Amino acid sequence: MEKQYLVSARKYRPAKFDDVVGQEALTTTLKNAIASGKLAHAYLFCGPRGVGKTTCARIFAKNINCLNPHNGEACGECESCRAFAEGRSFNIYELDAASNNSVEDIRSLTEQVLTPPQIGRYKVYIIDEVHMLTTSAFNAFLKTLEEPPSYVIFILATTEKHKLLPTILSRCQIYDFNRMEVGETVAHLKRVAASEGIEVEDEALNLIARKADGGMRDALSIFDQVASYGNGRVTYEAALADLNVLAYEYYFKAVDLSRQHDVPHLMVLLDEVIKKGFDPGQFISGLGDHLRDLLMSRDQVTLPLLDVPDDVKQRYHEQAVKLSQGFIYSAMRLANQCGLHYKQSRNKRFQAELTLIMIAQLGDEGEDPYAGRGPAEIKPLFTTPGRQAAQQDNQPAQPTVQPQQPATPTEVKATVRQEHQKPKPQQGRIGFSIKKYAAAETQASTQVAAEQPLAAGGASSEPHGQPVDDTRLGYEWRLFANSMPIEDKAISARMLNMTPRMISPTVFEVNVDTPKVREMMLEKRGEIVTALRTALSNHAIDMQVTVVEAQNVKVAISPREKFEELKAKNSDLEEFVKTFGLRFD
Ligand SMILES: [Zn+2]
Repeated sequence: MEKQYLVSARKYRPAKFDDVVGQEALTTTLKNAIASGKLAHAYLFCGPRGVGKTTCARIFAKNINCLNPHNGEACGECESCRAFAEGRSFNIYELDAASNNSVEDIRSLTEQVLTPPQIGRYKVYIIDEVHMLTTSAFNAFLKTLEEPPSYVIFILATTEKHKLLPTILSRCQIYDFNRMEVGETVAHLKRVAASEGIEVEDEALNLIARKADGGMRDALSIFDQVASYGNGRVTYEAALADLNVLAYEYYFKAVDLSRQHDVPHLMVLLDEVIKKGFDPGQFISGLGDHLRDLLMSRDQVTLPLLDVPDDVKQRYHEQAVKLSQGFIYSAMRLANQCGLHYKQSRNKRFQAELTLIMIAQLGDEGEDPYAGRGPAEIKPLFTTPGRQAAQQDNQPAQPTVQPQQPATPTEVKATVRQEHQKPKPQQGRIGFSIKKYAAAETQASTQVAAEQPLAAGGASSEPHGQPVDDTRLGYEWRLFANSMPIEDKAISARMLNMTPRMISPTVFEVNVDTPKVREMMLEKRGEIVTALRTALSNHAIDMQVTVVEAQNVKVAISPREKFEELKAKNSDLEEFVKTFGLRFD
């Protein structure tokens, strides 16, 4: 029986203040206010997305209407509480100002406000994303906010407090919600996993919490997606792949190689990272974050600012003590510079390589041989191992856990191979060539239709707009995937690992490994296709998503075997080969 994992964010939405994670101070204050009956007419809940603003607003509305409240919490059993739980209460109104932000929307709200509640004591109006109201809507709302009827309470929520007019701010009691800490998020995810019977690895939860960037809702939805892809298991490796994150390992290695001034192996390392589908700039910015974490791990004072599991913390500390602060600062600065120039750069890989070379050139105290006024003392870029060993002599002694010698290319490769053992069907050549053949057949009629005006009219331009090749397609695909909102993190990460290919002038294909992923891709099809049509200036571009089963992608050994395998999948192939008198050798 297949289990459904896509519900955590809703299922684990807290029903009372005591269950809200990470906002203790604030929920206590609210409970006390309710218990003592000291309620304001308007509250403003500020804070990043997904930290519980709307949830707390709903709990608040329920608690103040409860007929038998206890210490500021609702009883959960009275008629009002049941109405809330079943979503049929007339005492709570939610308005999303992001989509209902006109003067008319506000007018209809202020009219509603005039009717007193029929059951219960208060009508609570929750206005989400209140900064999205237009100025005229704001002004229309101001009067009601100033003198609301005694039975009305407004709860305004916003992620952008600074965008609110002072006249609004001064009329509200303001509550600032905290960004969720990684530890709190991990602990909460663990509880969810335990009650759902999902196997989890701590490092995976930590990664998810970091990616969610302080938002519990995002954390839960990423968790759901990783669990769903992993059939109920949340492993570090799967999370890395689903979130398109590079393992810590690469950054540790890059820093070690930099200190050994080992440019050749740094270049090999970067190449491996790029081959894994990561953007070179992403690697440099990840390296910047790693250096920042190293800096934080050097000092007991800043150690709590390091959001990694405890066993990994130790590794950071071990690498950090081998480095001078000067080196870390300089390397951070270089990584940052790369980020500043990266977007405009025409050769992005070159930018990344240059940055790594410059970091590898830094002296023990972070002296930059290219930046000083005096004669530069530049280290040879491609040194022999013997010379490297000599250069390392004056470095502090290194703990045994770290590799002392520069990694050989095979070592680097070995690490990369271990990272992710999942088969990558989209790289399977057999799967792809079958598709090409099948596609050539099925697309034939549309192609003819598409090409007809060209032949007849002799027009020089494509009828659908600009012709699209795999390179442009791949580029726009990545841009689109990178621009997707955080709630689509898992699918966007998947997309970054896919290689779309044109299989006809207007249709491209992406291969996925499970029907589940295909389903998710098809849900996004409208969005993807619309964006790509605009980006590629071709209004007929369409997407085809094909599931390529992992077992079909074993590497065929001889041309004969390849042919047999292809034939098994497509019976027309033999005919095709005969007709054209093809042979393989
Ligand atoms: Zn109640």
